[in-house]
Amino acid sequence: MAIEQTLSLIKPDATRRGLTGAINARIEAAGLAIVAQRRVRLTVAQAEGFYAVHRERGFFADLVAYMASGPVVAQVLEGEGAVARYRELMGPTDPAKAPSGTLRAEFALGLQENSVHGSDSVANAATEIACFFSRLDIVG
Ligand code: GDP
Repeated sequence: MAIEQTLSLIKPDATRRGLTGAINARIEAAGLAIVAQRRVRLTVAQAEGFYAVHRERGFFADLVAYMASGPVVAQVLEGEGAVARYRELMGPTDPAKAPSGTLRAEFALGLQENSVHGSDSVANAATEIACFFSRLDIVG
């Protein structure tokens, strides 16, 4: 399988509870390398842009307000099949449906406050990584 990069966000519910280190430990234990990382506070406009694909959804305003409500930790994760492997480590969107051992089963508070984001394709990963990092920031 090819070496890929994916964008991870540790979301505001998790940064608020001081879970960055615990989540990073799980990411590294799963064999994914954190090759870039920064903690940022998204503006409402930046959150709207990041989740623009969900603009028509009923939960969009709530999602944007939540994503701008506190710091996020943006990361580039690298490894074999990193996009799918991180999605598997995260678990499904709804933590109530997440298998035990996944990040969302362990840490999420609910459907919206579900602690982590991971890109859903290699193409989207490239777009999302470029929202947060330049090539010089990514050190494998
Ligand atoms: P993901 O790829 O698993 O993060 O899921 P999606 O791309 O479908 O949704 C993006 C984010 O929107 C999710 O991670 C949740 O934070 C939030 N979200 C998704 N569905 C709902 C919903 O039905 N209600 C609310 N309030 N938030 C949702």
